[in-house]
Amino acid sequence: MTQDSSRKILQDIGKTLQFHALIGRDSYVKSEAIQSFLSVPLPEDPIVALGGEFSKIRRNISCQKADVSKKATLPQKTLEDIRRELGDCTRCGLHEGRTRILFGAGPCNARVMIIGEWPSREDDAEGVLFSDKEGDLLRKMFQAINVNLNDAYLTNIVKCRASELSPPGKDHVSACRPFLLSQIDVVAPKVIVTLGPLAAQTLLSANKLLIHLRGRVHRYKSTPLIPIFHPSYLLKNPEMKKAAWIDLQLVQREIQKHD
Ligand code: SF4
Repeated sequence: MTQDSSRKILQDIGKTLQFHALIGRDSYVKSEAIQSFLSVPLPEDPIVALGGEFSKIRRNISCQKADVSKKATLPQKTLEDIRRELGDCTRCGLHEGRTRILFGAGPCNARVMIIGEWPSREDDAEGVLFSDKEGDLLRKMFQAINVNLNDAYLTNIVKCRASELSPPGKDHVSACRPFLLSQIDVVAPKVIVTLGPLAAQTLLSANKLLIHLRGRVHRYKSTPLIPIFHPSYLLKNPEMKKAAWIDLQLVQREIQKHD
């Protein structure tokens, strides 16, 4: 590897890290490549001597196009590309009430993608998705089927805060939907789980009530999609937890098919 190409890789890593800092990402999944990088003593000329190690790290940090190529037809984009394209978005009126855009969180090649409806007021304030008591319940729900939420990719139908009193309308959903669809294409999960009616209806282009959509496996393109109750609904309607447990078992069975 030449000194110029090593320098270019370092510049790319720097840009990626700056971008992660901008969107609030401050930690990375531990991996052998990163551990190996951290244990390499600094040489006199780090650019040349660490070139090989840096290229491994780059793949782990930013999930470059090699990960996306799981399916030959996928667009050659990364999540960073989509986030950049979204920018400081004012495409719909929800931008007026937000503190920040909550784009998504989790491994960019996650097997499970969990799609909620909108960031809560707490999420907006904290800058973390599912940071509230609904998020606590969501974690418990998935723990019960042996899925760690840290291993799933989390996002919402719209990326800016809304509320049950003033939920997103069709215009908001239409403006934000293309970015969600691009996220799904890039992550290419094995299983999609939607939370609540808006998420299921948006991805299935269906007008049916959630009660008529839950309890079975649908398809988004060719990916299995399972609609379940939103934790906010379960907190208000605890008698529905039994039905929720049946749905979660369905999710578990579908995930196990891809073990
Ligand atoms: Fe843009 Fe989506 Fe936020 Fe609307 S909800 S302003 S489309 S990021």
